[in-house]
Amino acid sequence: MSAGGSDLSWQTQKTDGGTIFVGSGGSRDSSAGRGVPQVTVAVEHYNRMVRVLERGVPVKVALDIRARFHDEPATLNGFNIIAELPGTDLRDQIVLIGGHFDSHHGGTGATDNATGVAQMMEALRILKTVGAQPRRTIRIALWGAEENGLLGSRAYVQQHIAVRDSATQQLVRKAEYERHSVYFNSDNGTGRVVGIWMQSNDAMLPICQQWIEPLKDLGVTVLGPRSVASTDHSSFDNVGIPAFQFMVDRLEYNSRTHHSNMDVVDRVQPNDLKQAATVAATFAYLAAMRDEKLPRKPVAQGGRGPGDR
Ligand SMILES: [Zn+2]
Repeated sequence: MSAGGSDLSWQTQKTDGGTIFVGSGGSRDSSAGRGVPQVTVAVEHYNRMVRVLERGVPVKVALDIRARFHDEPATLNGFNIIAELPGTDLRDQIVLIGGHFDSHHGGTGATDNATGVAQMMEALRILKTVGAQPRRTIRIALWGAEENGLLGSRAYVQQHIAVRDSATQQLVRKAEYERHSVYFNSDNGTGRVVGIWMQSNDAMLPICQQWIEPLKDLGVTVLGPRSVASTDHSSFDNVGIPAFQFMVDRLEYNSRTHHSNMDVVDRVQPNDLKQAATVAATFAYLAAMRDEKLPRKPVAQGGRGPGDR
């Protein structure tokens, strides 16, 4: 390769040490046509090529790329995994917990999002093991295709909870709209839970202040008032179902593991995960035992729908 001689585009990284962040190339819009194939290399390798080129020496690179497009029908690889701990007197109502189980291809998806899946499965195992008898049914949902645009959680909401009328954008509620009290999401890496984002739902503040009181010795002290997005709770928040993302210790999520080749089990913090599962079990149980469902924000008639990130 000499300067400008190749039809490949090269990208460099925001971190070093051989860590490669691998996002998605091109567009999800199949009509957008094919862009230039992209290869992401480690910053050290990229800089070496630049240094060699700067000395006027052509660079030769041998590549072995075995990319494959998975165009199997959605019925094969488009699914969610659902399980329940049945409730008692309010069993018709649902407290939903979950996170996505799909991941990018750079590593094994350990912190995005195997840790979120493990946290929520462990939360349900804790409740079952201690013989909890929740009043509302506690349902766990492990979403497929979050990285492709929240496809799994959007499909669940559209099938069970609500859709937006394509012409008027009016919200059309479905059978389970009133049955869902809340959704708690985990998709933020392996760190311990330090709090929860209130998703601009002010009525939740006094409730969560009470809930975190006994968890303060575990380090759960923060209630963030604002809304966060870009993961599966957004699919619920957009149709007015109370939906929250836990706030966690970021550790090296942004600097090392999120969508990188270093997203592997070596980076998982088991003790933080045990704490996180305990917090999720507590929130799910307290939501399942309340007399009322959790308070809802007014939902915009016309505008963001379950399909919006
Ligand atoms: Zn994720």
